[in-house]
Amino acid sequence: MALLFFTLTFQLLLLILRVSSESPLTTGGDVKNNFLESAKNPEVFDWMVRIRRKLHENPELGFEEFETSKLIRSELDLLGVKYRYPVAITGVIGYIGTGEPPFVALRADMDALLIQEAVEWEHKSKIPGKMHACGHDGHVTMLLGAAKMLQEHRHELQGTVVLIFQPAEEGLGGAKKMVEEGALKNVEAIFGIHLSNRIPFGKAATRAGPILAGAGSFEAVITGKGGHAAIPQHTIDPVIAASSIVLSLQQLVSREADPLDSNVVTVSMVQGGNALNVIPDSVTIGGTLRAFTGFTQLQQRIKEVITKQATVHRCNASVNLTPQGIEPYPPTVNNVDLYKQFKSVVRDLLGQEAVEEAAQVMGSEDFSFFAEAIPGHFTLLGMQDETKSYAMPHSPHFRINEDALPYGAAIHASMAVQYLKEKALKGSASATSFHDEL
Ligand SMILES: [Zn+2]
Ligand SMILES: [Zn+2]
Repeated sequence: MALLFFTLTFQLLLLILRVSSESPLTTGGDVKNNFLESAKNPEVFDWMVRIRRKLHENPELGFEEFETSKLIRSELDLLGVKYRYPVAITGVIGYIGTGEPPFVALRADMDALLIQEAVEWEHKSKIPGKMHACGHDGHVTMLLGAAKMLQEHRHELQGTVVLIFQPAEEGLGGAKKMVEEGALKNVEAIFGIHLSNRIPFGKAATRAGPILAGAGSFEAVITGKGGHAAIPQHTIDPVIAASSIVLSLQQLVSREADPLDSNVVTVSMVQGGNALNVIPDSVTIGGTLRAFTGFTQLQQRIKEVITKQATVHRCNASVNLTPQGIEPYPPTVNNVDLYKQFKSVVRDLLGQEAVEEAAQVMGSEDFSFFAEAIPGHFTLLGMQDETKSYAMPHSPHFRINEDALPYGAAIHASMAVQYLKEKALKGSASATSFHDEL
């Protein structure tokens, strides 16, 4: 018992020494400002802009980000950051710090879109029909910027920062594959940033709880028995079944969802028959669904309504909830504690007015797979300024404001440091109470 007491006291002493050995990195506000100053330093800023432009010139689609991944790894090599590769085909996971818990993750997505760039500039996409039109080239760059600054302070980190460079955000669910391949092993929290043309430059927009909708698709084949349109009694008409299904689906939002929740069920495709006097064998319908809460339940109800309404009309229906390989994305939900922490860190870093309350958007993000597995926080980072206008993401006219890159890098780095710092403080507090109990 005495030995146990001595061991615990000694461990506690070590912990206190570790926490109180105030490095410049762990002294609060000043340091976080240092991250912004460091990131704005021309040496770091120009390096980031060079990387971003190189990525922009060579956009790659989901799960094909081989050159992007190579560039990330070569920069990590130059920085002396250890990493795991490949994860989910092209993904890279870097590690900075003690190599011990706690582990906190920062995430960037790497993929581009099937869009022909319409912006005429020196670093326009060199790949016909492909473009970084969602700013993921900026996201990769911001995370590399954070990696550079964190690596410089690696000996002062009170745990490990995990850098997640993931493939295939745009529809193919790269994050889901990363989670399945163990990207979040031992990780306690994760932070993600998306550049936004709607938020003013130098500000971040976020909210607690659901911030982006869950999104999914459905496609169903309704099969009956075709025949002569004038002799319906010898057929089983899938057109009537499909019509009834389309109308019944409308009642899911109007009758089953809370009117204060935002939900969408849209049937956007109906295909069947090609003659005026022939009842077809089958009809195919399809559409999209969006929801902030009850997403899985809504998917199940869509399936149920389709199959059961088909039965009413003596037809069979097969329902596919991942048509064309499109992964359904759950809603992106921000953890309340991480949201509070984020607000306080960003206010320290960028000023009291720097955090805006984000409106919920029916768009979706596969960051949701990470935030579903562990506590997560996703924010929009502003790049809108008064002198220029910035097009919507997924527009061929989309551009990013490169001046926002240091802000993203500094927010990433500050959040990771602050998270680890608070964990260490909590750890020492719980060690104390454990000791007191003895
Ligand atoms: Zn996008
Ligand atoms: Zn995006």
